[in-house]
Amino acid sequence: MEQPSSRDVVVVNLISPSYSGSTWANILLGSHPQAMALCEVTTMVKLGRPICFIHGDGCPLWSRYDTTSTENPYLQIARISGKRLLVVNNGIDDLPQAGVPGLARKYVFLVRDGRATAASALRKWGSKNMLKAARWWKKSIRRKERMLGKLDPADVLQVCYERLNDDTPAQCKRICEFLGVPYEASMVEYWKPEHHPLDGNARLLKTLAEKRGETVAPDLEKAKPEGFEGRMIDMDFYRKADFANFQDERWRGEVTGWQMFVFRMVAGRLNRKYGYPSGMD
Ligand SMILES: [Zn+2]
Repeated sequence: MEQPSSRDVVVVNLISPSYSGSTWANILLGSHPQAMALCEVTTMVKLGRPICFIHGDGCPLWSRYDTTSTENPYLQIARISGKRLLVVNNGIDDLPQAGVPGLARKYVFLVRDGRATAASALRKWGSKNMLKAARWWKKSIRRKERMLGKLDPADVLQVCYERLNDDTPAQCKRICEFLGVPYEASMVEYWKPEHHPLDGNARLLKTLAEKRGETVAPDLEKAKPEGFEGRMIDMDFYRKADFANFQDERWRGEVTGWQMFVFRMVAGRLNRKYGYPSGMD
């Protein structure tokens, strides 16, 4: 087990299949006063520089990041932000975080009902092929399990996405205890603090920015034009969402009986292992 001292910077790796609500969870954890929500760092690696999703090149935080520095990126981010918990989604291979003095690593395995995740994938893919979606979810979970299985169990915490939705304070307390920081009640109001995520669920990030009276800068759109508009589908769902009681149960009205049957055949057993029904409730 990596024993972080109270001075260490901690990379909090949120591990989950895509479409599992990890941007929402990242922003929530990143609302702890000692934490910062980076969300996805892949875009930063691809572009060779960070661009704030909300503020673009004019970001007061990221404009202070020095790409020519030899300092470890996470240590530099912690230094310029003043935050010691850096929350990252599925980015363990993106920026160096292993064997860095003063940098500890923790892993939060975010598990969501496979039926919801597969339905969300179908929505994003614009597809009805549940066979493909169920297989994708199963493979993705298995891959994460293999990766997490090699780690010290003391560094891994499994969190149920639905419980995090339903009882946010209790689950945040549990996560804070795991990370070795005091729970702060203000973190559940994740729509209030300023965030500087690099990428993630564009609709959620855009809506949260709008709620704070900010507009998403066009820089990221220019830097990453492919499919940007396509990522903005279903904005209405987010604009109408009650962030104090955030729930995403859209899949229940979308998945047909036949698709549910297909899901159960392919991935029902794995879903049951994580405490969810195998198919129809
Ligand atoms: Zn920013």
